[in-house]
Amino acid sequence: MFSDDLKDVAVWPHDLRMHTAALLAAARIAEVMSRREESENTVLLRQVLDSFPADDCHVAPLRTLAAHVGTEDWEVSKLAANAAISTIFRRGLRRRPGSYGEYQVRKEALVAVPWIGIEANCCPVGWLPLLERAVAQVASCFDENALWGVRTLQIKEKFGTLRWYLSGGEGRVRVSIRLAEATSGITCLVCGRPGVLRPDLLWILTVCDRHYAEASDISSLGVSSRAYPQDASEFEVI
Ligand SMILES: [Zn+2]
Repeated sequence: MFSDDLKDVAVWPHDLRMHTAALLAAARIAEVMSRREESENTVLLRQVLDSFPADDCHVAPLRTLAAHVGTEDWEVSKLAANAAISTIFRRGLRRRPGSYGEYQVRKEALVAVPWIGIEANCCPVGWLPLLERAVAQVASCFDENALWGVRTLQIKEKFGTLRWYLSGGEGRVRVSIRLAEATSGITCLVCGRPGVLRPDLLWILTVCDRHYAEASDISSLGVSSRAYPQDASEFEVI
């Protein structure tokens, strides 16, 4: 995420700012593995956090994280922040479709969004709510005319997480896309419940405990294929 993307962050909707803070905190945690000094992500995180009231409890663990970069309290702050980040990442998600018919209707609605189009067909059923949330967030900030020139080039699952390649779009659009990608790393691509990236499977997937057990017992490829049902018989009702 770049500072140019966030130049007007103080006027963004509350939820989008909260998601932005969580994305920056997650990026900071990832980079502290390799270096502990201040970084642009830390500076941006503090900038976004400054836009919240001091008593906003949702971002309190993220403030602690930003304050403890490079200190002995970092590990404790990281644990609390990780829990808060996961909660914030999954805020505002609908349940995944409950029937094949609903899956078709909701997927077609995404295909009809001009800046997404047919690439929505490549989204696993458990991650459909991630795309829907991004569409709602973008629609809350821009009308269709303002999105002229924004195009989805590709949507796919790669190494267990969502990849969403976009052409055009300013900061708020890109944050919504990054949020969908980040949330896919903690969301089962079959059922949409909380999941974990499982690198030990033959076919790396992000799945919940139940689908992990099935993937281990039967095959990760079999579970993966249920994420992309072609007809009602292949749709898993949960
Ligand atoms: Zn699952």
